[in-house]
This record gives sequence, structure tokens and C-alpha cells, in this order.
Amino acid sequence: MDNDLLADALVRLSTIAKHLNISSHTLQALSQPLCTLTSYISIRKDNGESAYFKAYRCRYNSLLGPTKGGIRFHPSVDQSEVEALALWMTLKCAAVNVPFGGAKGGISVNAKSLSALELERLSRSYVRAMADFIGPQTDIPAPDMYTNERVMGWMMDEYETIKRVKAPDVITGKPLVFGGSVGRSGATGTGAFLCIEALAKKRKWQRHNQTVAVQGFGNGGAQCAILLQKAGYKVVAVSDSKGAIYSPDGLDILSILYEKQKSRQLKAVYCENSVCELVSHKALTNEELLALDVDILIPAAVAGVITESNAGLVKAGTIVEIANGPVSAAADSILHEKGVFVIPDILANAGGVIVSYFEWCQNRQGELWSEEQVTTKLSDYIHRAFEQGWQRHVSTNIDMRDAIYAQALERLTLAIEAHGTHDYFNAN
Ligand code: NAD
Repeated sequence: MDNDLLADALVRLSTIAKHLNISSHTLQALSQPLCTLTSYISIRKDNGESAYFKAYRCRYNSLLGPTKGGIRFHPSVDQSEVEALALWMTLKCAAVNVPFGGAKGGISVNAKSLSALELERLSRSYVRAMADFIGPQTDIPAPDMYTNERVMGWMMDEYETIKRVKAPDVITGKPLVFGGSVGRSGATGTGAFLCIEALAKKRKWQRHNQTVAVQGFGNGGAQCAILLQKAGYKVVAVSDSKGAIYSPDGLDILSILYEKQKSRQLKAVYCENSVCELVSHKALTNEELLALDVDILIPAAVAGVITESNAGLVKAGTIVEIANGPVSAAADSILHEKGVFVIPDILANAGGVIVSYFEWCQNRQGELWSEEQVTTKLSDYIHRAFEQGWQRHVSTNIDMRDAIYAQALERLTLAIEAHGTHDYFNAN
């Protein structure tokens, strides 16, 4: 895939829209972002030197509400990536019926190369550049790759300092003590797990017969792997940016997470209390993980890992896209030919934005919901969206991705038509 992610996202969108007979007005409304702010921000490094970074925030479409989307700190971040991610946020919110438009932001930076103090300065510098572009009723950021609760807390604090108001509703994914929601940190992985469980019910799977490989052992991937193992699935491989570990007998996910947090390395370990020992495993590359003979493949790292050049190697029967855009548009037809069932990103990773919406509601109402309220509501949103997509998939014999896109595009079309159609204006 070339690295113009927005072009790739628009090719897929227009292919699906044509196939589904979606109104050209809707396609036109989604063909460009509303606005993108780019800024060249700087921080003082610990050694006294200045360092400069390209920063972006895109508000792609606000038909359904204030725009919403994460902030990513990654060297690959550029305008096209941010705009593609913001388009997917627009579709995602529409698909799961959350009253937000789509946005995304990011800084082109290797966050691992910064000290904690430098990371704080960078987070605050980003908000200084974007403070008039974001806001509780205009555009609400959240975490994404290499940003987390602490970063969100710094950003909220900087925004409040600039605006001289308390505004917890300006950002979601914050620490609980600043108005974060219970269940937000694990929401993306939980949402993906709920999608897999919904599919398991349809397919009458015996969970212990289902093997799983997860690419990307971060917030989304690790949480989903934990829940899958707990429910009885056999997670046989996980990876991070350095490579994968694989054991056909299954891995103990909580132990691996414990060890990863301690040593920052992915090792196949088994821990009992604080005593951990290494167990046997095979080291694989990330490319090898994608071609493993497993039932469920979960790309949960970066975009564009399955393209027309390696889609033919995929052996999994089901792909669950926790990452945004892990499958290129050109790979869709190859996977379709192979009969691979794809739960698309705009549904599979929607748990994060759904609980972000709950967090925003709580902040605006001055409420604190219980874990049970959040979990039950999250499950309702995911099940409703999955079921609607499934019914369309079965009744019209289209892929699940097309079915979920149809759901999103129909909702956006309704919003466009509510402002008046050609027929309405010509009848008066
Ligand atoms: P994270 O930063 O917590 O974890 C990312 C993981 O991917 C890490 O384990 C990292 O080592 C690994 N990784 C990075 N580059 C890799 C590569 N080239 N190959 C293999 N592994 C690599 O990120 P996250 O929040 O879990 O996000 C992961 C994906 O999920 C992203 O595509 C993100 O957009 C998407 N997503 C996240 C959320 C959320 O709420 N966190 C919501 C929706 C979608």
C-alpha cells in the first residue's frame, strides 16, 4: 500500500458506497475534511536544547455532533494519516449511534525517545497550539497510540489553565480522579471482545477450540487478549513492535502483561503471585504472526499491515480489526475471495469512543456512573450495532464491513436530508 492513508480510505468508502447505492451527496460530504489545523510545536528538552515537532488536529465531519477522536504520538503521524483516522471516527460514531462527528489528532514523534518531563511539555505544547480548535462542545480529544490517561490529564490541565475554567468534558480517557470514567481504559479491548462473543454465538463456536493471534500488545490488544483467555479461547500468539511470541499450547496473557510492564519486554512467562518463570515459546516476526494458522487474527497495532501483497497468506477465518485501518482497501477483495470474515475497525474498536461518550455525558451532568452501568451500556451499544450489521450481512449477502458502513452512511444521509432534500426545496 502507498502511504496515503486518506486516499486509501476514500477509495474504500466510494467502492462500498457505489456497491450500496449510497447518495452521492453523502459521499460528497465525506470526500474532504471540514478543517485540519497543523502546527509546528516546540519543547525545551531536558538538556536545554529546543526540539520541534509537526502536530495535527483534524475535524473531519460534524453532522452528527461535536467531533471526537484520539491523539496519537507516533513517528508515522502525518496529515493524511490523521485525516483518514478522522474519517473513520466519523463513520464509527455513526455506525454505533454515538452523537459525535469524527476527529483525530497527533504529533509526529517517537514518544519512547522522550523523558517523562519532555512528554509532559510536549502534551501541554500540543494543547497550547490547539486550544481554540478543541472544546467540550466542538471537538473532544481522547487517547490513542502512545498516549494514555496521564497525557490526557496534562492536556486537560493545560486547556483549563488557558481558558481559566474547569472543563473536564474537553477530553476523555482522563484519570478517574479528574473525571475519567470507570471502564474507559479497557473499553476498546472489551468492545472487540464483545464483538467476538457475538460472532461466537452466531457461529456456535466452542471457545476452547478457537485459537487467537494478537498483533499489538497495547491498550486495545492486551485487554482483548485477557478477556478472550478468561472466556476460554486459546491465545497462541501476541506481538509488540519488536516481534511476536508464539506457543501452540496457548499463552498466559496476564503473566505476559505483568512481565511486559516490569521489564518492557514481551516474554512467554508464567507467574504465580510475584514469582515468574520463562516457559517455552517460538519467536516470530510480526509478518509471520499475520500468516499463522489460527481461527481469529486480531491486528491491534498500526494501519496497513494486511495489504494486497500479504492478504493471500492470511490463514485465519476471522479478522477482528482493533487497529484502525489494518487492512488496505486493495486487500478487501482478496480476503473476501478467501471467505475471511472481517469485523471492521469502525465496529470492532468502537468500545473506546462509546465509553468516551459515557465519560463526556458524566462530566456534563456532574455524575459518576458505576462500573456496572458502564459495562451494561457498553454491551448494549456494541450488541445493537453488531446485530444490525449482522442482519444486513445475512439478509443482503454483503460483507460485514459493507454492512457496518451501510449503517453509518445511512445515518449520515438522514442527517444530510434533515436539512432539506432536492425534492423538499423544489416543492416549495
Ligand atoms: P498502544 O500504544 O497502547 O499499543 C500499541 C501496541 O502496538 C504496542 O504493543 C506496540 O509495541 C505495538 N506496535 C507498535 N508498532 C507496531 C508494529 N509496527 N507492529 C506490531 N506492533 C506494533 O496503542 P492502542 O491504544 O492499543 O492502539 C492500538 C491500535 O488500536 C491503534 O491502531 C489505535 O488507533 C487503535 N485504537 C485504539 C483505541 C484506544 O482507545 N486505545 C481506540 C480505537 C482504536
